[in-house]
Amino acid sequence: MTSAGPTLRGVEWGCGCGPDCFTLDEDGFTCRKVLDAPEVWRVELLMHDTFLPSVNAFVVLDGGEALVVDAGTPDELNDTRLMRALVRLEVDPERTTLFCTHAHVDHTGLARELSEASARVVIPEGVLSDMRRMAVPAWRDEMVARMSSEGVSEAEAVELADVIWDHAINFEAEKISFSTVAPGEELRCGRWSFEVVSAPGHTPGQCVLWEPSTRTAFLGDAVLFLCSTCIGFWGEGEDPIGEQLSTLGLLAKRGIEHAFMGHGLQEGSVAERCEKNAQHHERRSARALAAIKQTPGQTGFELVPALGWHAPFDHWGETPAMTRWFLVSESIAHLDHLVAAGAVRREKDGRDVNRYYPV
Ligand SMILES: [Zn+2]
Ligand SMILES: [Zn+2]
Repeated sequence: MTSAGPTLRGVEWGCGCGPDCFTLDEDGFTCRKVLDAPEVWRVELLMHDTFLPSVNAFVVLDGGEALVVDAGTPDELNDTRLMRALVRLEVDPERTTLFCTHAHVDHTGLARELSEASARVVIPEGVLSDMRRMAVPAWRDEMVARMSSEGVSEAEAVELADVIWDHAINFEAEKISFSTVAPGEELRCGRWSFEVVSAPGHTPGQCVLWEPSTRTAFLGDAVLFLCSTCIGFWGEGEDPIGEQLSTLGLLAKRGIEHAFMGHGLQEGSVAERCEKNAQHHERRSARALAAIKQTPGQTGFELVPALGWHAPFDHWGETPAMTRWFLVSESIAHLDHLVAAGAVRREKDGRDVNRYYPV
């Protein structure tokens, strides 16, 4: 936040782009007011590495205080964009709290810059657990082992783990000062009080913020309107798809009117979107189950195409590693879900590779 000093007076940003909107650069990134009460501004930042075009940071303003929800992907241009937004909104860093919904780099990337500018950084306890478990080199080795046990070749398992394992930031390792909150606790911004609500699935420790009087929620990546949020495997015996289905069910029932998510904006009813997304996951699991019944004894990797992805399986080797990672990881998560639900049985073959059978 302190690094961009003189460039802030440049003429290429801060222009009007409609009521309650100003540009952050010449590339079309803007900061726009998206709600009056609470007063919420959306800062759009560049997303890296995936097909998603941008990532949101939200700024809630009230009574001279600011609550920033999520902190974008780290790079100098995003740092400048976020800082420009905060300067123009006349945010006082010393009266600012950053809350990160989950540990992914596109939601925690500029935490250091905010912290160094004197903002208070707060994460849910579960996000700290995720950082300790999944933002460490040991997690990369666990991912390789898990994919190998599902029949992915050693070379491809290493390639896929390497494109993704460090996509979370570990605040302890990075020496970024922070404090934690537990689900059920509240974060205040002026007269507003936001409840921290557990929302596992996309990551184990993700939490959303909920303001009941205006039915406003900050959802991180719990549910998106742009696409189905990615659900990757955690460990054998865990059920991220099951967790996500529960989260979607609870969010659908909460009565959310104003939803702000990590990517894109709300397009219609949150309850309907949650229900549709849950059905989408259930259809995928049902396809996996049908394939296992049709040909018992396949490996996890052999089952990937059966889940109905729109993916070029005839050109698998030429598909970008990040795409292959999403396909393999979410497919394994569906198999974990079927095992947890008692619908299929997982058995190791003589080479220690998991094979799936109907129950
Ligand atoms: Zn995420
Ligand atoms: Zn995200």
